[in-house]
Amino acid sequence: MAAHSLDSADLAPAWLEIPADPNDLAPGLWPANTTRESDGRLSLAGIPVDELAATYGSPLYVIDEADFRGRAARARAAFDTEAARIGTSAKVYYAAKSFLSADIARWVAEEGLYVDVCSGGELALALAAGIPAARLGLHGNNKSLAEIDRAVGVGIGAIVLDSLQEIERVADAAARHGVVQNVRLRVNSGVHADTHDFLATSHEDQKFGITRADAPDAVAKIRARAELNFLGLHCHIGSQIFGSAGFGESAARLLELHRDLLAGGDIPELNLGGGFGIAYTRADDPAEIETIAADIADQVATEAVRLGIAVPVLAFEPGRYISGPTTMSLYEVGTTKDVSVALPEGGTAIRRYLSVDGGMSDNARPALYEAQYSARMTNRVSDAAPALSRVAGKHCESGDIVVYNEYLPADVVPGDRIAVPATGAYCWSLASNYNFLGRPAVVAVLNGESRLLVRGETETELLARDAGLDKK
Ligand SMILES: *Cc1c(COP(=O)(O)O)cnc(C)c1O
Repeated sequence: MAAHSLDSADLAPAWLEIPADPNDLAPGLWPANTTRESDGRLSLAGIPVDELAATYGSPLYVIDEADFRGRAARARAAFDTEAARIGTSAKVYYAAKSFLSADIARWVAEEGLYVDVCSGGELALALAAGIPAARLGLHGNNKSLAEIDRAVGVGIGAIVLDSLQEIERVADAAARHGVVQNVRLRVNSGVHADTHDFLATSHEDQKFGITRADAPDAVAKIRARAELNFLGLHCHIGSQIFGSAGFGESAARLLELHRDLLAGGDIPELNLGGGFGIAYTRADDPAEIETIAADIADQVATEAVRLGIAVPVLAFEPGRYISGPTTMSLYEVGTTKDVSVALPEGGTAIRRYLSVDGGMSDNARPALYEAQYSARMTNRVSDAAPALSRVAGKHCESGDIVVYNEYLPADVVPGDRIAVPATGAYCWSLASNYNFLGRPAVVAVLNGESRLLVRGETETELLARDAGLDKK
């Protein structure tokens, strides 16, 4: 029947509601200091973001520094408070892989957090930024001998052992340097969580950590090496998790193993990892970090009583929770297309493509994980009706999408600018030079002042590594 439906909403996913105003800023999606100026322009901490694009280039990552620091402080306070309530203390590590620059490392260190790195490069950056080695943790399922040697040599606070081989490698490095190295052991708790649900199994098919069954033998090997000091177990059950249940289940399983291992000696800490979720669209409703911290603390306290053990110091590793919501990506629209799409039930609907000057090279997550994002026009507001729009990148891939589905004013034209919120985590850090695009700059804004954190890559830099261009 509906042979010529022109209602673009027929293509919208069920979760995406038509907004009353396609210029509005949904609460919880944007960096905390985002506002609309009276002239309709989008501002961050007092600066219209289009001025930032004009100054620093487009695309651009823009960080709300006060929000970043605030979220780091908030995460730390939540875990500190709840740990204290159950008679222990907390160590909160910022997962640097989500977004790392020298200033970012300093912000989180100044807010009292530790920093987790997972490669020699991340370690080098954190050290160069002046973060004391004792405040760092090193992760990774295949750390090189050079990475291990360097970490031990600089006096890194903790190394998370991820395999049996690493026990000997780290112990040998500690022996060479004449030190005793603090280590944790990553255990696969069998709990794997993903946004709304968690799966608890006894066997999980993944590369990280060792099984609970193998842990006692591994801990015995750690304890047998005088160069190693066993801090405790570690687990990380996933990422972008909205509720507490998976963390609670994982904590209970780890505490039981922790209890068994106490027979062989003291175990001061338990690291429950990161993975606390954030909102990318209006449909996302992650629990507040305070709620998750309280629920985990309750579970840990209950289990400790049941098992008859002291509550260990608790460590956590939030990445996305801190960095994700603090940043927006800025783009300029270059072309628009209205594409007629066949509907499964028959008929067609129009999908509007807005192609921008970046894409999967600055935000790989939609192409990698079908991650959903939101968007708003930044250079003006419009009275035009909401039109279902797809923000596409400029790369030579049909999967190069930045925002799959968003209602934007129907009159967006080339030259209009678009911001995508919640791009602080795993966007810049996953950026590539696909199609020889230079990776965009990163700028921080605080109290009406902007500051470059990372320069954008120039064409000269892009060509500089090609040995075929070297002068003879
Ligand atoms: C990536 C990672 C984190 C951080 O995850 P988020 O989802 O960003 O909070 C924490 N711990 C480990 C071991 C990780 O690999």
